[in-house]
Amino acid sequence: MDKSKMILGLSEVSLDMVDKVGGKNASLGEMIGNLADRGINVPDGFVVTVAAYDKYMEANGLTDHIRTLVDQLDVDDLVQLRKTGMQIRQLIMDGNFPDDLKEVIEDRYEELSLNYGKPATDVAVRSSATTEDLPDASFAGQQDSFLNVRGHNNVINSIKACFASLFTDRAISYRTSAGFDHMTAKLSVCIQKMARSDLGASGVSFSIDPESGFDNAVIINGTFGLGELLVQGEISPDEFIVFKPTLAEGKDAIIEKKLGEKTHKLAYGHKPNELTRKLSLEEEQRKQFCLTDEQALQLAKWVVEIEEYYTKRNDRWTPVDVEWAYDGLSEELFIVQARPETVHANQKVGSLTQFNIDDENRHERLIFEGIAVGDRIGKGEVNVIHTLDGRDGSADEADFEDGQVLVTEMTDPDWEPLMKKASAIVTNKGGRTCHAAIVARELGIPAIVGSTVATQTLNNEQEVTVSCAEGSSGKVYEGLIDFKEIDHQISDLPETETPIMLNVASPDMAFKFSKVPNSGVGLAREEFIINNYIHAHPLALLYHEDIGDEELTERINEITYGYDDESEFFIKKLSYGIAHIGAAFHPNRVIVRFSDFKSNEYRNLVGGSYFEPEEENPMIGWRGASRYYSDKYKVAFGLECQAIKRVREVYGLTNITVMIPFCRTPEELQKVLAVMEEYGLKRGENGLEVYLMAELPSNIMMAEEFAEHVDGFSIGSNDLTQLTLGLDRDSSLVAHVYDERNEAVKRMILMLLEKAKKTGTKVGICGQGPSDFPDFAEFLVKNGIDTISVTPDSMFKTLYSISELEKKLVKAE
Ligand code: PEP
Ligand code: MG
Repeated sequence: MDKSKMILGLSEVSLDMVDKVGGKNASLGEMIGNLADRGINVPDGFVVTVAAYDKYMEANGLTDHIRTLVDQLDVDDLVQLRKTGMQIRQLIMDGNFPDDLKEVIEDRYEELSLNYGKPATDVAVRSSATTEDLPDASFAGQQDSFLNVRGHNNVINSIKACFASLFTDRAISYRTSAGFDHMTAKLSVCIQKMARSDLGASGVSFSIDPESGFDNAVIINGTFGLGELLVQGEISPDEFIVFKPTLAEGKDAIIEKKLGEKTHKLAYGHKPNELTRKLSLEEEQRKQFCLTDEQALQLAKWVVEIEEYYTKRNDRWTPVDVEWAYDGLSEELFIVQARPETVHANQKVGSLTQFNIDDENRHERLIFEGIAVGDRIGKGEVNVIHTLDGRDGSADEADFEDGQVLVTEMTDPDWEPLMKKASAIVTNKGGRTCHAAIVARELGIPAIVGSTVATQTLNNEQEVTVSCAEGSSGKVYEGLIDFKEIDHQISDLPETETPIMLNVASPDMAFKFSKVPNSGVGLAREEFIINNYIHAHPLALLYHEDIGDEELTERINEITYGYDDESEFFIKKLSYGIAHIGAAFHPNRVIVRFSDFKSNEYRNLVGGSYFEPEEENPMIGWRGASRYYSDKYKVAFGLECQAIKRVREVYGLTNITVMIPFCRTPEELQKVLAVMEEYGLKRGENGLEVYLMAELPSNIMMAEEFAEHVDGFSIGSNDLTQLTLGLDRDSSLVAHVYDERNEAVKRMILMLLEKAKKTGTKVGICGQGPSDFPDFAEFLVKNGIDTISVTPDSMFKTLYSISELEKKLVKAE
């Protein structure tokens, strides 16, 4: 026997040996050999190669025997499959290693034990298949691994069990259906020293966001104890997101941290034959993150180094995923596995989809119209839901199925999980800038709002097609009508002279939207972060104990679970949300607007009713700037300022610009700037720029005076239209008059552009107008607007229309 081929030290293995040691072992060896000297800890071990597997199968006459068994097997007969599968695995377990091979394995194990200063040391015995990671035959995770294995016999038996796991019922059935030869899939096994993560923590990490493919972040998932519960999805892990560019600058670059639900942990077993056992976690520990910030940053640095190493080695960008372990005894971090990530590395930068409906007879099937949101089309069975808990006898939300059309009066943030499941949304109430509209746009779900008749007209189980692809009026058709989706490659999109920015609401969507061509973010509304991540009124967080409402205190304790300090909870959650968006679009400018809830919306936050007045006209009441310097709200505004300060100074995201909404007079503006300064946000310091929403007629009439104190204006055409035309933007009764293209509104804008030019102040726009009406966007460009910000679903048509217009304008000159 050529021992040198059968058993190899991990440091003798490298990535070009996949056929000899399987995918996992090859990359583990590569890492030990090349990254250990950069300070990346990898536990040592040795590999039982494919040659040894072959030798074992041969010596026990298993190859022919197994082939005969699988040849006779009908995999669709599940009883037979189970029987044969079990028989094959038992045959493998019952085999014996040839003496000399067994001896080498045992010697190696002893040597490893000695090196770690302990006889019969604890090792992980892991499978590494040769077919793993092949793009069209991903067997990943299908073979077994064993943790905390000790002693010669157990090591030998675990190796056999790994071999046997190549023949799970699932694997046999898969190979037969896919037409793979059962005997060409081979297995290698790694015997690796355990890191004591049973007393510490473990998890996985990616050098790229696996959801969106965003490549500037390291994602870390982890839990206390051994990692199996996380891999099996039995617990929901803690998550850290680390921003690579500011990590490289030495900043505290954790831009988001989410506490998981770690109800259990996997620890070492206590009895002789019990390798591991599941323990339930104490309440105190559940509240803690499994890694400290310093440890998470250290791990992220390693993951970046590993990605850089593989990228250099392959001569092309190679993101990686790793498994890590934190040893609770030695208090050291380890990388126990690393391999190239295959999904995104092979994917081209995305495309954008355009929807077309061609059926010429569709008009005969029109049921009703409303305001179109987005430009997509959806279809499905109607499900009318009046209230979220179904109290009034309507369908319960639990009855809502994926792909149904959600029909309701109006939505609020609690409806979001339901909205995500819908193929389309149709509401009675609301305008183009209401909650349902903003959320649907972000989710890419077609929605028709303000139809007035949806819940009365549509019936459960009726099939409809909801089209927002035919202009500003959304149409609901009877039946399921065919439509086309046309993909446009982002790389083919035209460029524009006028920078086009994005309006982004939800931090969760930011990484995805950053793939759409853009010049930064023209509007990130804090309200969405507060609604979705904070839930409670900031003053209720600060003062709930003084109120003496036990139910409220209980609710706030639930919301702030894992945080001892309520103001820190608010600052942290808000700063994570902002940082998520700031990082996604870095280094481009991201304009974050201070909170602009109306008092009725603030009242809806947990505890809000204790702190908010009931106003007759909240749209023109206590909103925006007037709150920030008011004694009744100032401390809450201070929390917002502290969050921004943290994102800019601690996380290093200085691309964040702040914006003040609904500011009635220059005196108000100065008061707000003074309060900001009190809380550490000084205009001009550390490059901080301050923008003002130009959304009240007074902002325009007094533009020169406002301009003295800000770096730029951003036109809020939603409020500007409301206030110029004197109509409530949420009222469907006057919605037919609401139009940003009204001559009065346009003249307002022209006046602002002229005044801003004189004072040398930048002007952008972030209202909904240019997203919905390309002719309005063109009007703005013709008259010299500096930037336009649109919703992600409209970027595509805006780029085309503006680039065409710019070409014409150049010709005309
Ligand atoms: C606007 O008024 O145009 C705007 C963008 O702000 P909001 O819709 O949040 O009032
Ligand atoms: Mg506004």
